[in-house]
Amino acid sequence: MSEKKWVYLFTEAELKQAEEYAGSWDGVRGLLGGKGANLAEMSRIGVPVPPGFTITTEACIAYQDDQSFPDGMWDQTLEALKVVEKQTEKKFGDPSNPLLVSCRSGAKMSMPGMMDTVLNIGLNDETAEGMVALTENERFVYDSYRRLIQMFGSVVLGIPDEEFEGVLERFKEEKGAESDTDLDAGDLKQLTEKFKTVVKKAKGSDFPQDPIKQLELATKAVFDSWNAKRAIDYRRRANIPDDLGTAVNIVTMVFGNMGWDSGTGVAFTRDPGTGEKKLFGDYLMNAQGEDVVAGIRNTKPIQEMKDDLPEVYEQFQEITKRLEKHYNDMQDVEFTIEKGRLWMLQTRTGKRTAKAAIKIAVDMCNEGVIDKETAVMRVEPEQVNQMLHPQFDAETIQAARDEGKSFATGVNASPGAAVGQVYFDADKAEAMAVEEGQDVIMVRPFTKPDDVHGMIASKGILTSEGGATSHAAVVARQFGVPCVVGASMMSIDADKRLMKSNSKTVKEGEWISIDGATGEAFIGKLELTAPDLEEQVELMTLLTWADEIARLQVWANADYPKDARRARTFGAKGIGLCRTEHMFFEEERLPFVQEMILNAEEAQNLINNVERLEGFLESGKLDGQTMRDESRKEVEDELVEAKKKLEDSEAVNAYYDALDKLLPSQRSDFYGLFEAMDGYPVIIRLIDPPLHEFLPSQEELLVEVTQMRTKGETKGLEEKESLLEAVNKLHESNPMMGLRGIRLGIVYPDIMRMQVRAIFEAASDAAKKGIDVKPEIMIPLTGHINELKHVQPELEAIGKKVMEEKGVNFTYKFGTMIEIPRAALTAGEIAEVAEFFSFGTNDLTQMTFGYSRDDAERNFLITYVDEGILPENPFQVLDRKGVGRLMDIAVSEGRKVRPDLEVGICGEHGGEPSSIEFCHLVGNNYVSCSPFRVPVARLAAAQAKIKND
Ligand code: ADP
Ligand code: MG
Ligand code: MG
Repeated sequence: MSEKKWVYLFTEAELKQAEEYAGSWDGVRGLLGGKGANLAEMSRIGVPVPPGFTITTEACIAYQDDQSFPDGMWDQTLEALKVVEKQTEKKFGDPSNPLLVSCRSGAKMSMPGMMDTVLNIGLNDETAEGMVALTENERFVYDSYRRLIQMFGSVVLGIPDEEFEGVLERFKEEKGAESDTDLDAGDLKQLTEKFKTVVKKAKGSDFPQDPIKQLELATKAVFDSWNAKRAIDYRRRANIPDDLGTAVNIVTMVFGNMGWDSGTGVAFTRDPGTGEKKLFGDYLMNAQGEDVVAGIRNTKPIQEMKDDLPEVYEQFQEITKRLEKHYNDMQDVEFTIEKGRLWMLQTRTGKRTAKAAIKIAVDMCNEGVIDKETAVMRVEPEQVNQMLHPQFDAETIQAARDEGKSFATGVNASPGAAVGQVYFDADKAEAMAVEEGQDVIMVRPFTKPDDVHGMIASKGILTSEGGATSHAAVVARQFGVPCVVGASMMSIDADKRLMKSNSKTVKEGEWISIDGATGEAFIGKLELTAPDLEEQVELMTLLTWADEIARLQVWANADYPKDARRARTFGAKGIGLCRTEHMFFEEERLPFVQEMILNAEEAQNLINNVERLEGFLESGKLDGQTMRDESRKEVEDELVEAKKKLEDSEAVNAYYDALDKLLPSQRSDFYGLFEAMDGYPVIIRLIDPPLHEFLPSQEELLVEVTQMRTKGETKGLEEKESLLEAVNKLHESNPMMGLRGIRLGIVYPDIMRMQVRAIFEAASDAAKKGIDVKPEIMIPLTGHINELKHVQPELEAIGKKVMEEKGVNFTYKFGTMIEIPRAALTAGEIAEVAEFFSFGTNDLTQMTFGYSRDDAERNFLITYVDEGILPENPFQVLDRKGVGRLMDIAVSEGRKVRPDLEVGICGEHGGEPSSIEFCHLVGNNYVSCSPFRVPVARLAAAQAKIKND
């Protein structure tokens, strides 16, 4: 057996070997990491890449066992180094012609939480002198050497970077230098010595002079960084598995700091903020790579390179076009120019804002580069959501400027508006956001990977330094956090916890507003507005494609006509849930609703009594026995009396009065819905919640009544007392499992009757006006077929009667919610009566898990999720194994009986991508979600189809 291969050169032959071993390009990325795989790939397609090699992620995993390199790895590394020496005609550690390399981490997924790169490995006192002789550029050599000691010291040896920065700052002051570039060769040589002293002081040993030792320690540091806290934190948030490992890339150094014909930069092939098709990036002349990314020196926009180095710019444009075409996606590249020669140091799929993701996907499809399916898969459903996030409209911004609220201006790094309280470090920002629930804007001079937790928790980010490709900008765009960077007029005093700009001072905890689209920051809170979907042409196009692809329709949960209209503009193809009881809460209706409830029991008892007696007479039987004449007479007399009682009863009159008053308002609500949804189905759910929800709380009433009694107040006391009595009567220990839904329909049938009449009257009126109505009446909380048999035919008869009265005819459906496990399990029976099912997955989840959804989240569910006892909160992400299995049973049993059974979902899950995918899998006809989630759901429905069919 041949030895395991741990190291792959950036050569065509070795890349091929990697492909054979890993089986696919995805596998190669897994083995070599994204950076390594793409470096080899660029080299294969003829893009200039400095020679180098990759130590695999497998080596990293093996290393984690006992913190030592696996057998053979180090030998292979040294062999690969020999090959690179040949390729470059230089020698590692040889003072007469030294090879220098960088040591770079690179996992499969790009991770800003990973270890920083160490450049200029191979420099020591001797090779430095050798390089001076060779390049006749002492300044450059000692600039490189001091950088090595600083990076190695902080990244590999773990000395806080501030110690080096502090020395540098003081040294610059001493020398009267403003910028690093003002330091001359002698200065940098001195600085190198000072840095060595920093290392010696901190570690008690010298900076390692042996190049091989440098390389070994750097490699180990990369491997160790895989399990550093910030890397683990990042993986948690970005959902990256812990067992992938990182590769190490050893790359021949090319130098952007060799003079003013050298430089370095980063660029995107399209604008990662807006998606516009033009090169976007920054560069610096006479600098090494880290300078641009760190945002320490002020960079120049990439377009200016046309003037500085026209030929290089041309070549660069050609290469970036080629790379974009090769990878079929927007690329984010890093490059260095050494004495007029261009080298590519990295390419990867560029992170982008939601806006850019959508525009790039649509543009590339229109350019014929990708197909519609690919375009649809390129956008995350949550990115669609971001497009609907609030923004500042132009007038608000203008008004703020006019009112003198402008605080600072910087680079518009990540679009979106944010209003929040200012905090000056990541830990505080996170604490205030997570623990205090504040809206936070994190303000820093610039950010580093350690700051990511605070950035993600914040509503917005503002920095005083750095450009459009600085760390803050890149991370903000990735997580969709509005961000302004490089607001350089701003001065931050981290000790005093305040910042100043434009002769204004903002203290920690005070409110500011930032606009990531214009790059402005304002004092105080600006008003946010919802963006207009129809103006977002690319998003509309993408969603149209999604609709063409998806099998699952998207409907909306909407109670009011205005919600229905919004849902429709967002692309809903129906209303999946109108909760009629929401209308009961309206101020002018609630008194009638309460009137109805307060009298329901007494009225119903009287009604029941009459019906009972009529029943005896009709059947001629009493207690199962045929009635004799004298008992018949008795029953008849009783009936007369009961009828009289009924007629005279105040309760009955009040009850029907209230129902009569509610009917027209319900009718007009429904009319508006039918009008808004002309041509589309509208599912209206009959009353669902327990009645006590419409009454004042028991505790409050008790307090009031007691107070009135002790104070001797009599005015209104009687009403309060009877209200309290009614509330006491309605009290249940488990109201969610009590008298509600269809159970109300059986105990107090007149309420649902009134509602059905209102629905059919509204639909008839609308139909007469030429509106295409498709009402669907949904009965909640069925658990047993007999319940539905008891309620549904009678309600349907009312509907028919109304149509007859009004002289119109339209199609309608009667159906039920499936939200009780027993209903799902007996769906075959239920489908004999119900014409449609709608999964109420909030209740279904509650009843399947036996978790009270009103209490579980605050009591134990969050702990369950944190501890990994549940993979996710089942009220957010549908539990496929349990709740989902019930759904699956219900759909298949139901369709066996009624093949055209319409099935949908109207719980919160209807707008959540993974749950939507599951609905696609079980064969739902539609998902229904809140209007704002409709665009998200449309994309998710298409993605479910593409992923699974
Ligand atoms: P990150 O993953 O943080 O982007 P990289 O490994 O890409 O880290 O390194 C950061 C920067 O260091 C690069 O953008 C590049 O400018 C510079 N760099 C890395 N390797 C080399 C090299 N061999 N020669 C010159 N510059 C390099
Ligand atoms: Mg990089
Ligand atoms: Mg329910």
